[in-house]
Amino acid sequence: MLGLGNKNIGIDLGTANTLVYVDGKGIVLREPSVVAKNTKTGDIVAVGNEAQAMTGKAPASIEVIRPMRDGVIADYDTTVSMIKYYIEKALGGRGNKPYVMISVPSGITTVEKRAVIDAAMVAGARDAYVIEEPYAAAIGAGLPVMNPTGSMVVDMGGGTTDVATISLGGIVSSRSVRMAGDKLNEAIVSYIRKNYNLLIGIPSAERLKIEAGSASIEKAKEMRNETVRGRDLLTGLPKSTEVTAEDIAIAIHEDLLEIVGAIKDTLEATSPEISADVVDHGIVLTGGGALIKNLDEVVADATQVPVTVAQDPLDCVVKGTGESLKSIEAMKKK
Ligand code: ADP
Ligand code: MG
Repeated sequence: MLGLGNKNIGIDLGTANTLVYVDGKGIVLREPSVVAKNTKTGDIVAVGNEAQAMTGKAPASIEVIRPMRDGVIADYDTTVSMIKYYIEKALGGRGNKPYVMISVPSGITTVEKRAVIDAAMVAGARDAYVIEEPYAAAIGAGLPVMNPTGSMVVDMGGGTTDVATISLGGIVSSRSVRMAGDKLNEAIVSYIRKNYNLLIGIPSAERLKIEAGSASIEKAKEMRNETVRGRDLLTGLPKSTEVTAEDIAIAIHEDLLEIVGAIKDTLEATSPEISADVVDHGIVLTGGGALIKNLDEVVADATQVPVTVAQDPLDCVVKGTGESLKSIEAMKKK
């Protein structure tokens, strides 16, 4: 039958989310990088959304794992199972083994890169290639990566925030900090515990961040309050409390300053030519963290450079990875 031959796929194997792009189709899958395993047998119980829903609710016989940490593989076997599941889900289990392009953080070691390629091969790839995440993010955000014009992209995910300057088809300079969405969630949990004597779970903190998180404390004053449920640390009983958006903004402020600092450091370390381009064309924010309200404004204020949020920031890396599949064809011909 026609059309059931090779389908090449691009994977954004993120700390928080895995996205899959199928050549000729576009993005077919967006799910959390989460796997639920039976603790006794090691069998996979659920992957992705279904596994995520078990977070904090699973019985002792089920362990909910996030196999990626800070952008690299922390649990190899579980990562292989997850990639395998997603490749099969994306391709519907038909056709030949796909060529796979996977995005990896810039500046990871050769061993870490090798582990990603091996994992993709064991998971069923015909062959696997890697592309650096900030570069993929820049392609996905529509930046002119091939031009002799410097661009700067800030990709803020779950585990790391990656800042990179790109020109003439490559990364000129980059920096990665282990400060991103996950740390913000933890900061919210700890702030609510200290100031409200209420213990909330990570999923609740994440919801507060998404609904009421603001990089500007000032602007948060105009935002509405949110209700959150948790355990009262004084009585030990379940309790529901109203928290202000200002509280959430204060909770995440210090961590966000660290990210802003990394952006400033990267700018300072950039060659005058590239930084002049960045000043002209601005900084582009990608990744889930780009959706934090007022982050663009706060970064622009701190750097004195115009800042824009990419369209569909969560999709940029996989889009760029998918588009770069075309280069696999070129590589195969070599
Ligand atoms: P990764 O590449 O590490 O998998 P993503 O780019 O998928 O990460 O982004 C995931 C992070 O973005 C999570 O920490 C999530 O809480 C955060 N995020 C997603 N949507 C929003 C939003 N609307 N506001 C703030 N943070 C968000
Ligand atoms: Mg990412």
